[in-house]
Amino acid sequence: MPELPEVEVTRRSFADRVRGARVLGVRLGKPLRWPLGRDAQGLTGRTVHDVRRRGKYLLLHLDDGVLLLHLGMSGSLNFQRELPPPGPHDHFDLLTTQGTLRLHDPRRFGAAVWAPAPDQQPALRLLAGLGVEPLEEGQFDAGEFHRQLKARRAPIKQVLLAGDVVVGVGNIYASEALFLAGIRPTVRASRLSRLRADRLHAAIREVLARAVERGGSTLRDFSSATGESGHFQLEAAVYGRAGQPCVRCATPLKQIRQGQRSTFFCPVC
Ligand SMILES: [Zn+2]
Repeated sequence: MPELPEVEVTRRSFADRVRGARVLGVRLGKPLRWPLGRDAQGLTGRTVHDVRRRGKYLLLHLDDGVLLLHLGMSGSLNFQRELPPPGPHDHFDLLTTQGTLRLHDPRRFGAAVWAPAPDQQPALRLLAGLGVEPLEEGQFDAGEFHRQLKARRAPIKQVLLAGDVVVGVGNIYASEALFLAGIRPTVRASRLSRLRADRLHAAIREVLARAVERGGSTLRDFSSATGESGHFQLEAAVYGRAGQPCVRCATPLKQIRQGQRSTFFCPVC
């Protein structure tokens, strides 16, 4: 599933190239998770001013509104001057004077949704309840993070996954950040001391920034991919490594289930 780093790398792969483009038309494939919510051809003639990101949504700011794109479980975006004719899994093409932006999404949990502004429906509903952005300067505050955790009785891993305290810490990154911070995934969020919350705060930023950087270093290949998803994963220290020796202490890593999701951790570290 595309996580925040993949979505951010996707944004960087085409934001500069699409800026200033004029929309020539829209091509819709099979229905996605939510309908576009407007007459698609009505977008023709609009200019793309900017591409921003909120959580795992990409926001294309046009003259009179915003197009929200979500990659769902299996989606990927491609922006090229020339693209081959759409295949059976290409469900949204935004044709512009600077190229075609295509959403490829075999499982169709992704979406392209129109809203007059980010703070109006349906954008408001989709973006409501999202926690702070971990990588935006000045948004993710360690003290505030600790205060929020104090109020949660659920296991820390679950609290991170919920995304209402901080966005973008998906399943892989939660296991990795907790390992890096030396915190057991099952501990109640409310029991973390300020010191440990600070360590987790730093670990989250480090893990996500490293993943974006890694994706960024492959940006050239990524943006020239045709149909290939371009997903990448950080070199995981614990995720997907159950039974293998811990990189720090060589104890075999453990795998447990938390809320239907796999958690990986070192029982010692
Ligand atoms: Zn260990």
